[in-house]
Amino acid sequence: MGELTTSKTTIRDMEVEVFVYSPSDSINADTVLALSHPIINCAIQFIGYTPVSRYVLLVYFHDKEDHSKIPCLNFWGALEHGNSSTYALPAQKELFPYLQKMIAHEFMHILAPLNLHSNKLVSTDYSIPVNQDNHLWLYEGITEWASHIMLLRNAFISLDDYLLELSAMIRRSRTFTPPYSLLKLSNSWHTAEGKKQYGNIYQLGALTATILDLRLLRLSEGTRGLREVYLDLVKKYGSKQPFDNDSFFEEFITLTYPEIQSFIHKHIMSYTPFDFVEEFKAVGIQYLPVQLEDQNTPSLGFTVEHHPQGFVVSKILSPDTSAVKVKVGDIIVQVEVDDSPLDGNTFLFKLMQAKIHSPYSLRVLREGKSLVLEGRILQNARYDVFRQEENATAEQRYLRLKWMTLSP
Ligand SMILES: [Zn+2]
Repeated sequence: MGELTTSKTTIRDMEVEVFVYSPSDSINADTVLALSHPIINCAIQFIGYTPVSRYVLLVYFHDKEDHSKIPCLNFWGALEHGNSSTYALPAQKELFPYLQKMIAHEFMHILAPLNLHSNKLVSTDYSIPVNQDNHLWLYEGITEWASHIMLLRNAFISLDDYLLELSAMIRRSRTFTPPYSLLKLSNSWHTAEGKKQYGNIYQLGALTATILDLRLLRLSEGTRGLREVYLDLVKKYGSKQPFDNDSFFEEFITLTYPEIQSFIHKHIMSYTPFDFVEEFKAVGIQYLPVQLEDQNTPSLGFTVEHHPQGFVVSKILSPDTSAVKVKVGDIIVQVEVDDSPLDGNTFLFKLMQAKIHSPYSLRVLREGKSLVLEGRILQNARYDVFRQEENATAEQRYLRLKWMTLSP
C-alpha cells in the first residue's frame, strides 16, 4: 500500500490496532482509531463481552492518483475476517460517518457469519458459482440490523436518527424490482440476475431483522428480542461448529415461538411487503407512507444532484415515481411539462411553477442509452415517515423502552 500510519489502544480487554494508508498522510491512524473507538465500544456493550482478544483495522484511503497503483483497492468497500477487517474508500473527511457505519457492520460480522454459519456456507467454493446456503438473511441482514440498533441502544445516535435510517432503508429497498425473497437472494446472489438484487440484503434484510426483533419483543413482553436469541445461537455454535442449513429455520422457531413460523414463511422464504403501521404500533411508533407538505409546492417525487453532465437522479422518494421507472443515476437531458420543453439545466426552477397533477415527460440517459419516461407532477411530500406516538399507552412506552435500550 505504501507508507502506513499506525495507532493502537485497548478497549476493555481487547487490543485494537489500526493501520492506515492515505495519500500524503492526509488521514492518519489516530483519526481512524478515534472514529472506531465509540463504535467498537457500542458493539462490545451489545454483544456483552469482548468477542476477540485482538482486532485490527486495515484502511486504504485513495485519491484519483492512486487509482492506477493498486486498482484492486480502487473501490468503496470492506471485508470482514475473524480478527480484522479491511476497508477501501476515497480520502475524504466527509466520508467519516460512512466509514463508521462500515466499521460497525464489519465488526458485527464477528457474530455471523464468523461465529454462526451453516454447513453449506463452510463448504462453499467461491470459484464455482453454486450456492445452496439459505441464510444470507442472517449473515448480512441481522448484521446490518445489529450495526444500527447497537448505536441506538448505546445512545450513540438518537431515536429520530435511527428512524430516519429505517425510512432510508425502505426507500432504497423499493428500488429493487421485482423484489426477491431473502431466501431467493441467498440462493442466487452469484447469478447475473441475482447480483442486481444483492444490495437489497442491506435494506430488506435489515428491515426484516428489525420486524423480527419487534415481533420477538412483543411475544416475550420485552424480555427476549432478536439480540438475545442471536447471542444464544452464537454461544451454541461458534466458529467451529456449523448449524444444519436445512433445519435451521425449524431450530429458530423451536428456540422462539410457533408464531415465528409464519413470519419466516412470509418474510424470509417468500416476499410479502411489511405492514409497518401494524408492526411499529407495539412500540408506539407511527408510520406514515406519505406526509403531504405545502399544497402549492410541486415535486417530481425524486431528488437530483448536480453532475458535470447535468442533473442526475439521486433518490427516489415516492412509490408513485417508481411507476415512472426513473432510476438512481439517470442523467436528465430534457423535461417537458404540459408539452412545453424545459432545458435540462434550468428545469428545477421552472418546475416550481408547474401545476400539481400535470403530465411530464423526461428524456434521460441511462448507460449511454436515451429513454423517455412519463409521469405526473406530485404534491411535495415526505415519504416513509416514522414518528413517536405522543399519546402512547403505558404498554407501548414500556416496550419502546425495552426496544431502544440494552437490557442488562
Ligand atoms: Zn457484510
